[in-house]
Parts: sequence; structure tokens; C-alpha cells
Amino acid sequence: MDFEEKTITEKTSFVKGLAEGLGLGDSAQDKLIKALIDLVDDMAVEIADLQEELDGLYDEIDELEEQVDAVDEDLADVEDFIWDDEEFDEWDDDDEEGDDDYEDCFDITCPSCGEEFSVDEETLIDGSVNCPKCNELLTFDFDEDDESEE
Ligand SMILES: [Zn+2]
Repeated sequence: MDFEEKTITEKTSFVKGLAEGLGLGDSAQDKLIKALIDLVDDMAVEIADLQEELDGLYDEIDELEEQVDAVDEDLADVEDFIWDDEEFDEWDDDDEEGDDDYEDCFDITCPSCGEEFSVDEETLIDGSVNCPKCNELLTFDFDEDDESEE
């Protein structure tokens, strides 16, 4: 194998082998070479550990991405359900068809005092109601025009 293609760990082993072949002694230069090789050896081990940790993190990121994708798909399903045209039309028709266990209520905001309250369909058809807070007489033009068309 070409030296350039070796991993850091493999290169370190190779360099250590070369150093042993030199038969290093106790001279200052030999000590320096030994110290450098020790240092390179330590760094190679550290880098290998970090690489392993990094690979583990990449695996975790892959898993998280899969989970996010799954949640994303679920949300898309929920959105489809909420905005499904048929479902939407059924909601619009509520005030025409009536519903036994559902009392039609309409939210009103008093233009005089800003109080928010709800009135039932009957009150709405009557065309007027007194604000429960400031007693202002509120009138509404109840017409059948459907404004939900976009
Ligand atoms: Zn009011």
C-alpha cells in the first residue's frame, strides 16, 4: 500500500517501525525523535477515538433525520385532513343542516367596548343582541352569502 493512502494509525505504526530500525540511543537527538514518535502515537490514538465518536454522532443524526421525516409526514397528513375540501365544506354547512348535539354559536366582538361573546343562531337571525358588558344594542345583517370562497 502506498504510504499516502494509509490511515493515520497505519502511518504511525510505520514510522515507529522505522525508528526502531534506527536503534535509537540516549543522545539528545534520539530522545527528541523518541518523544516525537510518542507524541504522534498519542495523537493517532486520540484521533481514532474522535473519529469513532464522530461516526456514532453521524449515526445518531441519521436516526434523528429519519424521525424528523416521519413527524413531517405525519404533520402533512394532519394538514391534509384539516384542509381537506370535503371536510371544510361540511363545516361550512353546519349552519344550514343543524346538528343535534352541536349548538350553533357565533363569536361576536362588541364594536363599542371590545367585549367578545358568542350568540346562538336564533339570536343571530333575530338580527340584534345587547352586549352583555356595556349593554350596547348590536345589530347584524345576517345574509346567506358564503364568504369562504377564496
Ligand atoms: Zn360592549
